[in-house]
Amino acid sequence: MRTKIVAGNWKMNKLPSDAAALIGEIRAATNDGDCGVEVVVCVPYTAITAAAAALEGSKIGLGAQNMHWKDSGAYTGEISAGMLKDLGVKYVILGHSERRQYFAETDETVNLKLKAALAAGLTPIVCVGETLEERETGKMEEVIIRQVSEDLAGCQADFSKIVIAYEPVWAIGTGKTATSTQAQEVHALIRATLAKMNPEQADLVRIQYGGSMKPENAADLMAKPDIDGGLIGGAALVADSFAAIVAAGK
Ligand code: PEP
Repeated sequence: MRTKIVAGNWKMNKLPSDAAALIGEIRAATNDGDCGVEVVVCVPYTAITAAAAALEGSKIGLGAQNMHWKDSGAYTGEISAGMLKDLGVKYVILGHSERRQYFAETDETVNLKLKAALAAGLTPIVCVGETLEERETGKMEEVIIRQVSEDLAGCQADFSKIVIAYEPVWAIGTGKTATSTQAQEVHALIRATLAKMNPEQADLVRIQYGGSMKPENAADLMAKPDIDGGLIGGAALVADSFAAIVAAGK
């Protein structure tokens, strides 16, 4: 039985003091994350210290939204896994479609980052998903299989430590959600792809759905057999909405 995991992706929002305030509200609204669902907040780098302090004594996990694959060196503007760990970060989002789209992230760099995150003991949340054009031209399956195979290549022994987020690009921040049937179909494809890579651990991987998940559709999505939680953008910035999505995962 996989424990559901609901993570908020705050993107480039919230100053440290706002982050601390929102975390206070989320703690209150989710019974401090002690609710049968793993609860995570992925905050901007600049809010990590304030968020770690605001989460003191809480079961809610702290996450970041990106990292570099090298431990240290001449990589101006970058942050390593070790730097995140040192601040109390436990989870890291990798390969979000906004990073693939705007910052030239590739399957190759996602794979390097995944290996570095696992080596540092962070729980990676690896994002995959097709664009609208890819779906409409019948390429969805090919894209998902390629992303899962290349992003997770060489990490088979650590599958149980990896979280995958299926985020159809056309559903992110658009208000358009995949139907639970559409999402389940892709989640099953992801699990089948994982099973070809490591049959023993494919059933242990948690696969979140992300893309305009909200309190109104969360229960329907998370009732599906291969949907093990959610990666939440917009709705994660409002404590009551985020808590209602968490509650829908129970
Ligand atoms: C996301 O960016 O990970 C996301 C799912 O965003 P939204 O919930 O706003 O669609």
